[in-house]
Amino acid sequence: MNIAIDGPAGAGKSTIARIVSARLGYIYVDTGAMFRAVAYNCTQNGIDARDTERISSLASSADISIRYVGDVQRVFLNDADVTDHLRDEAVGNMASVVAQIPVVRSVLLDLQRKLARENDVVMDGRDIGTCVLPDAELKVYLTASSAVRAKRRYDELVAKGENPDITVIEKDIIERDERDMNREIAPLKQADDAVLVDSSYMTIDEVTDRIISLARDAGAKV
Ligand code: C5P
Repeated sequence: MNIAIDGPAGAGKSTIARIVSARLGYIYVDTGAMFRAVAYNCTQNGIDARDTERISSLASSADISIRYVGDVQRVFLNDADVTDHLRDEAVGNMASVVAQIPVVRSVLLDLQRKLARENDVVMDGRDIGTCVLPDAELKVYLTASSAVRAKRRYDELVAKGENPDITVIEKDIIERDERDMNREIAPLKQADDAVLVDSSYMTIDEVTDRIISLARDAGAKV
């Protein structure tokens, strides 16, 4: 059984997908982390985000793999665990630039489909329901207003002891949405058969309960 959760940056996909997968006993696949690993690899090699040719060749030759420690996904780049370097805002913004490059998408698509073929998965991203797993038993499009998404991100950074500017965060979120929704290949959009869940005014428990109930309706044993 495969569950696809797509939506814009900061909608809470990874938090929700992690809880839902644990409740169902499925593997959680965070596809954004794979794009972030490619972006991180570029920064480590001093490659500019606009250098499509070098990024394509780096993405084809890099060995990106996913391993699980318990139920936590770790991302390996050429055998080094890079997971802890991937969450920075800068890496996320660069990920959305490299995600426009066809070779990058096709390398990661193979990896994503292989994981879904071999396991029951909850996979989150931007194009899972529309492109990666068009036959997923359940597709959810999880969204929230940009103001709510910016506030959540702001609270996270404040909790980490940072002093962010919420207007800058919201501006970055809107820019990233624009790029993700308007790129040529696999843009972010709700699949025709996806269920829309707007989490702007829902708690984490309410969202997970809703998705578990949809999963049960789709045939998951819970
Ligand atoms: O979800 P996350 O913020 O980690 O994703 C980082 C970027 O990777 C996104 O902004 C998007 O451009 C790209 N991405 C994608 N397709 C996916 C997952 C992520 O294009 N399935």
